[in-house]
Amino acid sequence: MFKLSNSQVEQALYQNAFEYASNGKAIVTLDGKFHLVNSTLCTILGYSKRELQMLTLSQLSHLEDISKTNYLFTEQPPNIEGKIIIDQRFIHKNGKELWVALHFSLLKINEGSKHTSHYLVDIYDISKQIEKEKEIKKLNQIHQLILDSISDGIYGIDLDANVIFWNKAAEEMVGYGENDLSTQNLHDLIHHTNKQGNKVSITSCPVFKALKDGESIHITDDVFWRKDGMSFDVEYTTNPIIENGEYIGSVITFRDITEVKKTKEILQKSEKLSLVGQMAAGIAHEIRNPLTSLKGFLQLIQSGESDKQLYYKIMNEEFNRIELILNELLLLAKPNPTTLCEKNIIGVLDQVVAILQPQCNIQNVQINCLYQTEEILVFCDDNQLKQVFINLIKNAIDAMPKGGEISLEVERESEQVIIRVKDQGVGIPEEKLASIGRPFFSTKENGTGLGLMISFGIIENHNGKVSVTSKENQGTTFTITLPL
Ligand code: ADP
Ligand code: MG
Repeated sequence: MFKLSNSQVEQALYQNAFEYASNGKAIVTLDGKFHLVNSTLCTILGYSKRELQMLTLSQLSHLEDISKTNYLFTEQPPNIEGKIIIDQRFIHKNGKELWVALHFSLLKINEGSKHTSHYLVDIYDISKQIEKEKEIKKLNQIHQLILDSISDGIYGIDLDANVIFWNKAAEEMVGYGENDLSTQNLHDLIHHTNKQGNKVSITSCPVFKALKDGESIHITDDVFWRKDGMSFDVEYTTNPIIENGEYIGSVITFRDITEVKKTKEILQKSEKLSLVGQMAAGIAHEIRNPLTSLKGFLQLIQSGESDKQLYYKIMNEEFNRIELILNELLLLAKPNPTTLCEKNIIGVLDQVVAILQPQCNIQNVQINCLYQTEEILVFCDDNQLKQVFINLIKNAIDAMPKGGEISLEVERESEQVIIRVKDQGVGIPEEKLASIGRPFFSTKENGTGLGLMISFGIIENHNGKVSVTSKENQGTTFTITLPL
């Protein structure tokens, strides 16, 4: 039997650990020759141990990468403390490129009284990792390419509102470039002020809210600010970014709606004027009566009739009536900037009924006002709401060419008011119901097909809702809900 000494056991263990390590290992002389290599390294490089021992590390390196390690194999090698890590390419025996990570540490060997230094090099095959990185880079490029080819502005932010990605369209619209966005908080840059020019605190910003609650929010009318200090109208959607079930940020898609808004305004104005035009006949009719009586009284006064005081009183009433009608007409025709304030919706409806009364008289239509109360205050632009109700009632009148009744119902329900315009008209066939509110959809010879589209827009701007139910030859009901 043959017995091993302790130091022999230790040496055998070290040799074993070196030889069968999961990574390549080599002891390399200070001039770059392979002194000792393990079998894993042979597998990585495709050479036998004998072959490797005849080569230098530089000879195995890719030509473009030789310079990365050259400084280690000079006459005065650097004094390494700890490790030096170098990623570079080797050439496999089969001629193919191979990415490796080289970890150099200095190994001092005592041979008798002689001390020599070598490098202990751990060699890791990182080809797969590099391949993955390349793939990710390529995917990122494709991802950016797709983002950049979209005309809507898109950017992503993390939970602190820092931008994590954005596209070209976003950059073009807001005017900020990579440098601005990577050093400053986006919220402060483009979304720091609301439509009224007041500063928005981050906690009241919808983007931030969506971010915190992981909600999707669509905002139809807001402003973003450009680098040049100007603002522009935007519509935007914010959607949460979810990773492993957690909200880690938000994607904001936005669109410059300056042009769209201008077009809408023009359409709204032209629809208004068309309404005024359509009502002109009724109004002319309505004014003709007081005018005729005024003329009669004037003649009476001229002829020296005595009871002048009574005539003056009646004439005054008639003048007031003409004035009222003309004022309403002018108000409707005038372009009004949006102004929101608290108004009694019943009063608004009464004014609408008054202005449409002449039209109703001509077409033999009766309007029944069924109000639950006398006053319901709504935060609104009353001129715009008037336009909506005139549109709806005018449509109802048009739907009853032989005359009939319109009921105008108002109901209060907790935090909202419900207004219904019901007619007994021709109704809307089911297949056309979906087209209601689409621009230029009209079944009338002289229709604009804009009335409902504009009305729906106005209600939406008031955060309200519109719904329609209809039965052919029985009638139609438009229901409007407005928040209080
Ligand atoms: P216009 O009145 O100029 O045609 P609108 O947008 O106001 O445009 O209405 C679009 C269409 O919707 C009308 O042409 C009509 O066909 C239909 N419509 C609207 N309201 C009613 C209603 N109360 N009854 C029947 N049809 C209606
Ligand atoms: Mg109409």
